[in-house]
Amino acid sequence: MLMSSSRIQIISDDITRLPVDAIVNAANRSLLGGGGVDGAIHRAAGPELLAECRALGGCEIGQAKLTHGYRLPARYVIHTVGPVWQGGDRGEPELLVSCYHHSLRLAAERGIRTIAFPAISCGVYGYPLEAAAHIAVREVRNFLASDDQIGMVYLVGFSRDVCQVYEQALQKM
Ligand code: ADP
Repeated sequence: MLMSSSRIQIISDDITRLPVDAIVNAANRSLLGGGGVDGAIHRAAGPELLAECRALGGCEIGQAKLTHGYRLPARYVIHTVGPVWQGGDRGEPELLVSCYHHSLRLAAERGIRTIAFPAISCGVYGYPLEAAAHIAVREVRNFLASDDQIGMVYLVGFSRDVCQVYEQALQKM
């Protein structure tokens, strides 16, 4: 088994273009699409994704549900619902931890070997980027330390700035 840190890669890209086993969607509780990365994923996947999502009955904050990827290069989409930042004392850190943990657990259960995460909650939901990057890196590393199913986790920054914050978080670990 490779060291957990060598199974984490930070990349700057549009997550909808990645040929990985699964991409993670920063969805909302309805799972019926929205703005940001959610909208981009639904546009790229096509209407079949929305049809499958309708049957799921939504998703709680911190939980995750899996669908097919349809027209995406990724085989699956793991939809997770991040917390809206409300100052940090409303359980936001624990809920963000839970998003990463449940997404990775679902991926491992389904035999997924490569998975890409956007910066969950760091757009419209307003989670401070440095704090979120720290949680992302820590949770992925902790998970990989006791998992030999997942071969590579990509932390995707839509901009170079986001990637830099991830890189700093990775170095500090
Ligand atoms: P949330 O509602 O959870 O905050 P957003 O979609 O608003 O989700 O933003 C989450 C992060 O995803 C932000 O850093 C945003 O810049 C990024 N993002 C938006 N579109 C894409 C994309 N196509 N690929 C990767 N990341 C994206």
